[in-house]
Amino acid sequence: MVLVKNYGKSIIQNKIDNNCNFTKHNILICKYCNERNFRFVKKNVTRFRTSVNIIRSGKNECHICNNLFQKTIYAIQNDITNSQYFIKDNQEKKIDIGTSLPLFLFEKEDNLRSLFKIKGLPNIKNQYNNILRSEIMKETGCSIDHLNPDIRIQVFIDSQFNYDIKYKTRSLLLLGKYNKYQRGLGQRINFNNLNNKKKIHEERSHSHFTIEDIILEYLYVQTGSKNIKIAWSGSEDKNSLVLGNGRPFIVKIDSPQFRNIKKILDIKDKLRLIFKEIQMEDINKYYQYKIQINTLINIIEDNLDKVDLEENISKLIGDIRFQINNKTIKKKIYSSSYKIIDDKNFEMKLLLDNGIPIKQLIGGKEFIEPCLSNLINKKCECLFFDIDEVILNFKDGNHL
Ligand SMILES: [Zn+2]
Repeated sequence: MVLVKNYGKSIIQNKIDNNCNFTKHNILICKYCNERNFRFVKKNVTRFRTSVNIIRSGKNECHICNNLFQKTIYAIQNDITNSQYFIKDNQEKKIDIGTSLPLFLFEKEDNLRSLFKIKGLPNIKNQYNNILRSEIMKETGCSIDHLNPDIRIQVFIDSQFNYDIKYKTRSLLLLGKYNKYQRGLGQRINFNNLNNKKKIHEERSHSHFTIEDIILEYLYVQTGSKNIKIAWSGSEDKNSLVLGNGRPFIVKIDSPQFRNIKKILDIKDKLRLIFKEIQMEDINKYYQYKIQINTLINIIEDNLDKVDLEENISKLIGDIRFQINNKTIKKKIYSSSYKIIDDKNFEMKLLLDNGIPIKQLIGGKEFIEPCLSNLINKKCECLFFDIDEVILNFKDGNHL
């Protein structure tokens, strides 16, 4: 009685009405539920004088799934393949699709399976996922990758068979490099200076204050992401140019709608950006590089002395130490040369590790060893410096 009572009132009713004879009871199921459960299983079972028969029906509502398959699969597949993730971007993708079905469907299937002693077959959710996946693969040409898909699609279906589809795309990690051809363009958005962030944000949308603004605006439009973070690897003065291979930086783009972005942005005489997709494990090597700089130096006290320069500028080459947040940092200077302009000013070219504070190296207001002002024993200052070249420390890193 326990087994049969889950089968609904009609079985029990039939049993009471035909107390002495066998009663026939038919259970109508759809082709999907039939294929899943009864392909290799006998469709008839007798319990307590009731003969229960499984009948495949195309017209009536399915006893197990309430016609879930017919009612939802096509609509969901259609919504997914026509979503922005597929129609605007023809790139081949790896996807994963999962569904969440209402609990009563599992309960109804389990009850029927226990009556017919069906074990070890895929359940309603397995079959639903398989059909949905293969339909979408057919339509879009995508392949399935459960571990590391470009897009994870989760379909939520409620008891009324209303559904909601959520998309999450794999983060996109980019190596960027920028060349700066215009003086006065700062690198980063400085939120410390913003008293009224909202007001400044509105003004910001009409003009670009910093390189960061330009990069973010470009990548938000290109990728359709809602969250983008830049990790810088050093900075230069607002008035410095950045030439040569450009300064590298890393960008992490959360859940991008489009991965196939235009990799170069050229704003004539102002800024050039280049991007390349990289892997997480490679990030650190892009932070280690040398820069070749050209500085203009002014002697504040006294006049320039050619002999002083000749004797001392080469002493900058070698190890250099300075402090950041009470920590001593060690870096290297690899070459130095100079050119006298007049009796107060000269140019100096240096090849050095990224991250050495240039103005401090020349003026020496805070601890740095060696320091140009101390070496020539004359107080001097860096009027400005440009980055002529950027050389990444690993092989092939300079070619994007
Ligand atoms: Zn069904």
